[in-house]
Amino acid sequence: MSDIVVAGAGPAGLVAALLLAADGHQVTVLDRDRDGPGDIHRAWELWQRPGVSQFRLPHRLVAAGWRLLRDELPDMAAELERAGAIVFNALAGSWRVRALGGAREGDERFETIAARRPVLEAALALVAGRAPGVTVHRGVTVAGLLIDAPLKGGRPRVRGVRTGEGEVIHADLVLDATGRRGELSGMLGSPGTAEEHGRPGFAYYSRHFAGPMPAQPIWPLAHHDSLSTLVLPGDVGTWSVTLAVSDDDVELRGLRHAGVWQQAASMFPNVEPWAAGIPISDVLRASGEASGPRRLVAGGRPVAHGLLTIGDAWAVTNPMFGLGMSMAFAQASLLRDAVRAEGLDDLDKLALRFDEVSRSVLAPVCERLGRWDRHRLAELDGERRGRPYESGDAEWVLGKALDAATLLDGDVLRGVADVAHLIATPQEAIEATDLDGKALALAGDAPRSVAQGPTRARLLAAIHGARP
Ligand SMILES: Cc1cc2nc3c(=O)[nH]c(=O)nc-3n(C[C@H](O)[C@H](O)[C@H](O)COP(=O)(O)OP(=O)(O)OC[C@H]3O[C@@H](n4cnc5c(N)ncnc54)[C@H](O)[C@@H]3O)c2cc1C
Repeated sequence: MSDIVVAGAGPAGLVAALLLAADGHQVTVLDRDRDGPGDIHRAWELWQRPGVSQFRLPHRLVAAGWRLLRDELPDMAAELERAGAIVFNALAGSWRVRALGGAREGDERFETIAARRPVLEAALALVAGRAPGVTVHRGVTVAGLLIDAPLKGGRPRVRGVRTGEGEVIHADLVLDATGRRGELSGMLGSPGTAEEHGRPGFAYYSRHFAGPMPAQPIWPLAHHDSLSTLVLPGDVGTWSVTLAVSDDDVELRGLRHAGVWQQAASMFPNVEPWAAGIPISDVLRASGEASGPRRLVAGGRPVAHGLLTIGDAWAVTNPMFGLGMSMAFAQASLLRDAVRAEGLDDLDKLALRFDEVSRSVLAPVCERLGRWDRHRLAELDGERRGRPYESGDAEWVLGKALDAATLLDGDVLRGVADVAHLIATPQEAIEATDLDGKALALAGDAPRSVAQGPTRARLLAAIHGARP
């Protein structure tokens, strides 16, 4: 079988390696970060991953991502559970809302697993470390591509990689799984391959907690006037609370100080009990720019043979929705299927098929979230300037109605959850439950902000008064 080199041993690179190796390919994974996970039970404290700035930020796996791991990589799923990750139903918190009528048949589809990212990635790394056909080298940077100069009118053929340590590794196929900077695609030097990069973004201020967890939140994500809040369960009795703001909101930058963060979090009834746990981290900050797909197909033709991008190297979505890893896993399985269908002899066909399935299955999610980001950033900007944001965009209006109606009706809740967990497309959810009609009727005028919380003026006053 073929030799495949994967640059990047993050979630995308490791899952792609495991799926391809299970089909008999020899896969070499290279990562510039030196350290491996070590003891999975100590990964949270000890594993250093300077190559992934969000490594200790809260991560959730949506139901589709968990299902894929459980079905395709049962060994990895078992490793994760042994390490203390907790299988739970993402809707269970909402069942406490009486109007929703409790659990229903079919709700098993919302099962997922809670683990802090270092634990989740350690489980993946341990399984990859013992998988036949996978070799992981850490502390090795991919510094260049081995490229056959194109014949006239042809395209470059990537035949392997050159490492920063001076090694040359030949491969039939190279995968760029280097994360959001997509370093390898940049090395091709082909203009016009990235669609839309570095859209302005959000900043995340997160804290992890331990202790007796108050209860599973009713719904993890809520949008307020100046920020969004997110509560996520973790492994072994831990959880996290995130305050997500516009990166441009200078007045909220004080949230990086623990005292200020605690003061602010305590003002939002939907996160206050969770923010009162025992902190096991400082306030961790990350900012995230979303980006559209970095396609290596232009004008209907691959820009190179033998190089494909996957995971964040392909596209980055707003972390607030917690989809990046699950989308990367889905893309890894799409890649495995494309390699099964096309083989590695005709790399043109493989690149086109992979581009086509990525575009049809995953790009619509990126595009939808990209549109949401623009509206939400404008809304937050309007709030700062005291000019409430208005938009007649039907998708945004429906989104606001859904925010308002999710906890008012069991069908709407499940439709929203199906989309949030990548179980259904919005169109499928609308067709299955008359989601739009119900949500608009229930939400009435679709209030701008549905979650309870302080006004911006009160929030700022409290922040300024708080001790860092
Ligand atoms: C604040 C924040 C919160 C998030 N929350 C969630 C969440 O709740 N759920 C979710 O699913 N996703 C979440 N995400 C997104 C998630 O982190 C990414 O989607 C995920 O890390 C993508 O995995 P990846 O393997 O593509 O890239 P990465 O995880 O970035 O891994 C890339 C790897 O490539 C290596 N590398 C880079 N360059 C080279 C090179 N030249 N040579 C060798 N190795 C190289 C790096 O060291 C790294 O190990 C969040 C992101 C952010 C910023």
